[in-house]
Amino acid sequence: MIATLNHQALLQVAIDEAMLGLSEGGVPVGGALFAADGSLLGRGHNRRVQEGDPSIHGETDAFRKAGRQRSYRDKIMVTTLAPCWFCSGLIRQFNIGTVIVGESVNFPGGIDWLRENGVTVIDMASKECIDMMSDYIINNPAVWNEDIGEE
Ligand SMILES: [Zn+2]
Repeated sequence: MIATLNHQALLQVAIDEAMLGLSEGGVPVGGALFAADGSLLGRGHNRRVQEGDPSIHGETDAFRKAGRQRSYRDKIMVTTLAPCWFCSGLIRQFNIGTVIVGESVNFPGGIDWLRENGVTVIDMASKECIDMMSDYIINNPAVWNEDIGEE
């Protein structure tokens, strides 16, 4: 069923969220959770800076906004950047079946681990996502290192 979905259109929702986060002065990572038919369940973005909350990542924000779902196996998590360990853990914990990432150049996160554990990971290698993140990292190295738990 996922083969019939327009992955770029799904990713665009996450990109729009990332841009919103950037406009708020935050880390530009967006996420969205979709049902198998491509209907949107929840969307969100990293709000570490805005809310002072290190647990609000694009993925966790979208996940929470989607509310309770009976099963996650057929759900699709879309994120502009490869999920960190925290978000990779969330994906495993709830058995989310498919993850679409905008890019994994700036940060590979847990995508190899997800694949090894049966999660379908689709890496869009989006130039728009790569440039958005690399620009942010160059201009805000301290915030970025804080975001990924580096010192
Ligand atoms: Zn994360």
